Amino acid sequence: MGINSDIEKLILTQLQDVKDPETGRSIAKSKQIHEVNEIDGEIQVKVGMTSFASPVKQDFHQSVEEAVRRACPERKISVTIAHHDRPAQPMGTVGLTAKAVIAVGSGKGGVGKSTSATCLAMALQRSGCRVGLLDADVYGPSIPHLTGVRGQVTKADDKIGPLDFNGIPLISIGFMVPPDQAVIWRGPMLHSAVTTFVRDVAWGNLDYLIIDMPPGTGDIALSLSQLLPITGTVIVCTPQEVALIDAIKAVAMFEKVNIPIIGMIENMSSFICPDTGKQYDIFGKGGAKTYAEQAQLPFLGEIPINIQMRERGDEGAMGANFDDPQVAPYLEKIAYQLVKHLSQQAAAKPVQPQLPVLG
Ligand code: ADP
Repeated sequence: MGINSDIEKLILTQLQDVKDPETGRSIAKSKQIHEVNEIDGEIQVKVGMTSFASPVKQDFHQSVEEAVRRACPERKISVTIAHHDRPAQPMGTVGLTAKAVIAVGSGKGGVGKSTSATCLAMALQRSGCRVGLLDADVYGPSIPHLTGVRGQVTKADDKIGPLDFNGIPLISIGFMVPPDQAVIWRGPMLHSAVTTFVRDVAWGNLDYLIIDMPPGTGDIALSLSQLLPITGTVIVCTPQEVALIDAIKAVAMFEKVNIPIIGMIENMSSFICPDTGKQYDIFGKGGAKTYAEQAQLPFLGEIPINIQMRERGDEGAMGANFDDPQVAPYLEKIAYQLVKHLSQQAAAKPVQPQLPVLG
């Protein structure tokens, strides 16, 4: 048994053009084609994908399937996506092992930045990514409240052990100072706190570190940008004009410290009445989308206002949002759009020229 070598060649040629969603490189060149075979008249192809790309797995499956179909249009085919291991490399001067660091920012407080950051981390993790969550909102660390995670950090060797939020390593300044103590820190102290968060915490091997940034100010963003190559920031805003003006300031602030803007999320975009199912656009609608279009920034999606979402936040039961059909699809879509954009950016990157081998 086995596959006819001409068909195999045709398939491998077509697969050359399929790009790995994480690196943007050909899956043929990065040894992600695990198997090309024919069993009982069916062409079976197995390719590998890293956990980083989990949210776009269906798209990847489809592009592999299309490539195989181009090679043998008349045949019955079956494509399997298997796990491909590619550990993260240490980043920047601090040695954090993550593949992407995503800062979640906003122009002002109260727009749902921490809620969005937590939901983004959860949505990525639920689809299969390895995710860490860092609450760097030193002025109002609300992630312990939203997640219901309480406790103290632990010391392991010379590292700080993060707390666990349903399998997501979690660090917050709220675990280090009593919740009623406003943190009035200035530049050097902030810088050293941020350095501790990314350098001294035993984050493990991550695909994504999601950072909940303080609203508005640039101190933490500047510190982070000096320590790590931040992949980019996601700006959260509500649709009304005033929040958008603040969001525009946030975009300018991140640009000033050379952190790329990945896109915008519109939170509290509409209210679906639980009694009637009717939709009300309390703060207007589509403002962030329009702004994103004008500023040529990707729009990553929207989250409706939802009473249960607020209640779940207060009860520290954010996980329930993913069992709620009124909310879950919006959160999953944002994670999908984020990874899709990262993947498109990777594919658009110029290919590193191969150095000639001297000898
Ligand atoms: P920020 O981090 O911008 O200050 P939070 O994420 O702490 O904002 O959210 C502020 C409040 O709004 C919290 O009580 C939270 O539960 C609530 N909230 C956030 N997003 C929504 C939403 N889409 N629907 C209902 N309540 C929300």
